[in-house]
Amino acid sequence: MEERLKDYRWLLERVYKKIPPRPEAEGIALPEPELIRVGDQTIIKNFREISMKLKREPAVLTRYLLRELNAGGSYDENSGQLRVGIKVSKKPIEQLLQRFEKAYVRCPTCGSIDTKLLRRERNWSLICEACGAEQAVKPI
Ligand SMILES: [Zn+2]
Repeated sequence: MEERLKDYRWLLERVYKKIPPRPEAEGIALPEPELIRVGDQTIIKNFREISMKLKREPAVLTRYLLRELNAGGSYDENSGQLRVGIKVSKKPIEQLLQRFEKAYVRCPTCGSIDTKLLRRERNWSLICEACGAEQAVKPI
């Protein structure tokens, strides 16, 4: 009995040691989107800052957001602001940013955000620098 318990503990230890750490598994502390309504359009003032937090090019995040919102618009390199061609409130933007993080930033294997998007024409993958996992993702 005693021996068996020891074996069991030894096994448990081994199992735990094999689990990779989950760095920043809690989620990225994204800044709240600062919105300005201009007529029928919406400006996301701190768009560049949000892109940087997500570690993705503003151009990629722009295409994603505009596609999901089914809206026109453009990113302004100088001001770092995104102009969205419709009225939109903070909540849907926050939800889209969270979905983007889940699909295009966070490693589905280990939960790390230490990842890169690798683009080979229409084949995109999410490469994790923490655990080495590679996951095909939908091109944006
Ligand atoms: Zn990983």
